[in-house]
Amino acid sequence: MLNLNSSVSQLNKIGAVTAKRLKILGIETIEDLLFYFPMRYDDFSETILIKDLKEGVNANIKGTVELIQNKRSPKKRINITEALISDETESLKIIWFNQPFIAKNLKAGDLISLSGHVESDYTGLMMQSPEYEKINKDGNGLHTQGLVPIYHTTANLTQKQLRFLTSQITNLTSEINDFLPDETKKRQGLLSLSDAIQKIHFPKNTEEMDKAKSRLAFDELFIIQLQSQLIKKENQENIANSISFFEKDTKNFVDNLPFTLTDSQKKSAWEIIQDLEKEKPMMRMLEGDVGSGKTVVAALAMLNASKNKFQSILMAPTEILAKQHFESLKKLFTKKTIKIGLITQNDKKISGSTGKLKAEDVTKEANIIIGTHALIQKKINFKNLGLAIIDEQHRFGVKQRKELIKKAGKKSPHLLSMTATPIPRSLALTIYGDLDISIINELPKGRKKIITRLVDEAKRQLAYNFIKDQIKTGRQVFVVCPLIDESDKLGAKSVKQEYEKLNKIIFPDLKIEMLHGKLKPQEKEEIMRNFLDKKIDILVSTSVIEVGVDVSNASIMMIEGSERFGLAQLHQFRGRVGRSGYQSYCLLLSDNNSPQTTKRLEALVKYNSGFDLANIDLKLRGPGEVYGTNQKGFPDLKIANLFDHKIIKKARAEAELIVDKVVDYPKIEEKLKEFNDKTHLE
Ligand code: ADP
Ligand code: MG
Repeated sequence: MLNLNSSVSQLNKIGAVTAKRLKILGIETIEDLLFYFPMRYDDFSETILIKDLKEGVNANIKGTVELIQNKRSPKKRINITEALISDETESLKIIWFNQPFIAKNLKAGDLISLSGHVESDYTGLMMQSPEYEKINKDGNGLHTQGLVPIYHTTANLTQKQLRFLTSQITNLTSEINDFLPDETKKRQGLLSLSDAIQKIHFPKNTEEMDKAKSRLAFDELFIIQLQSQLIKKENQENIANSISFFEKDTKNFVDNLPFTLTDSQKKSAWEIIQDLEKEKPMMRMLEGDVGSGKTVVAALAMLNASKNKFQSILMAPTEILAKQHFESLKKLFTKKTIKIGLITQNDKKISGSTGKLKAEDVTKEANIIIGTHALIQKKINFKNLGLAIIDEQHRFGVKQRKELIKKAGKKSPHLLSMTATPIPRSLALTIYGDLDISIINELPKGRKKIITRLVDEAKRQLAYNFIKDQIKTGRQVFVVCPLIDESDKLGAKSVKQEYEKLNKIIFPDLKIEMLHGKLKPQEKEEIMRNFLDKKIDILVSTSVIEVGVDVSNASIMMIEGSERFGLAQLHQFRGRVGRSGYQSYCLLLSDNNSPQTTKRLEALVKYNSGFDLANIDLKLRGPGEVYGTNQKGFPDLKIANLFDHKIIKKARAEAELIVDKVVDYPKIEEKLKEFNDKTHLE
């Protein structure tokens, strides 16, 4: 007897080869197959009479085979199956190529259903290579009638096979563990899970399809919400040291800044300061576009922690960035009473002291410690950690966040995550429901808008002339390429190739260097330092300069192969310039000038806010693509749409009802465990 855990290889008409192909899709058991949802449907719910067919549309017809035969093309290279199908109104010619077996499957007199594209040749309308299936007089076709599911599939595994296999097991859905309590389903008007699974594959109409989607989307969002509410609850049971607000010192610090804080910087800082005073650990995310000035807000929090005699740590995703934070915080904290430390793989130091230090010396002495992943190594211990800040949090996994929190010993530190990923608030609340959110939604005053241009290949030389002029006036330039080394396969511009070209041919008299991930940390650091010290005119780099790097003298960001990057990432690159009063420019070059690419890149010309761009990218590519690739801990959703406010709201409401008594629902607990195993692997 088949059950949910049976291997798919036990299904009817499945061989070792097909089983292997299914495995590529992650399908090994019956259950896997049932949970392999269609990505879309072809709507063949309306059958059209042959006399009403029009050229150029997809259509579904039903008719009797009048005639069917195989032919060879004149040069005998291709087999052509020709058939004539007629319904009560007219007949239609059908052609299939190189599928001679069709003439064996079908014979004159068979009633069949066909779906395909209507074309025409010199004889009139026809269908070429339509999907077909035999039906009986009132039979329902699996492949050519109603809403027909279309799955993501892999080479040599056809839609027909997937549909056929799935259709054999829909009766087993009754065995699926429906983890939602009956009350919940009733309250929210949701289908049972077995119903939903059956209908997601083979809905009779769009209403059934919508209902199935709603239930399955609810499940995904409910588990995410419940999980984050559980974390939040757990966190509220933890105790933190209260960090009281040193109003005078804070005011002094702010007054001594070389600039005035923006309103949203002030508001965010205030939200953070209020959290810090509590004996519950803060769990807050500070979100702000590139260049919006998150660091100084973090500095205000660290100042207060120091005044309360607690240590703060600031963890950055790259060595370059950690180093840079160290330098800029040293400038912000000029008073000798606050010592700034740095811990990376290759560097351990404290502001004001020289000589070689060990990590231990830094953790003992410094009030504020900046570092990379090196900070969460086992052997690193802090004296009295009160505040932990994660910069560019999307580069870290949940596990690393947890490791960091553990460093505080018995009590929990206050936690601040910072990100420039422009996640709309509603989306952030869905995914990061365990975090409170502060948003800096404006750039400091006086910043000039970065002028962005798509540069046609034919005008490349003009761009180079422009670069030369800018460098003459004292500015510096970034050139970003998609790859380090040349690659024939991808045909994309590489750092090494561009470096050679710029250095030898285009600008032989300028100082040019390259920066990429394969360099040793010391080499990278030296290059960055030289760039900061204006000893380098042009820095040719991979995406390693994407996050955080602050070179206020740079005024041009030139991006090669820009179509290979997402809008959000391009926006990050662009944020590397325009960080001071100089008018800055972003030049986008592309090897691909298809209308689609151009449209996407033009969004960058038009929009300067990361939020606007993220919204466009989301529409064009979907959340998985936009945030998925370099966004750790982002849930992998099959059905739910993170913008479906209605379902999100329902899911949140139900999660709130259950969060305090999850133990009473073992099926939900099981589901949560499954979810955690999947999302929190890093
Ligand atoms: P991000 O939010 O991208 O981390 P940073 O904190 O690195 O931005 O700030 C970018 C630059 O803007 C820094 O040079 C910083 O000193 C400066 N800055 C921050 N806040 C302001 C402000 N209110 N007015 C002017 N410049 C500011
Ligand atoms: Mg930053």
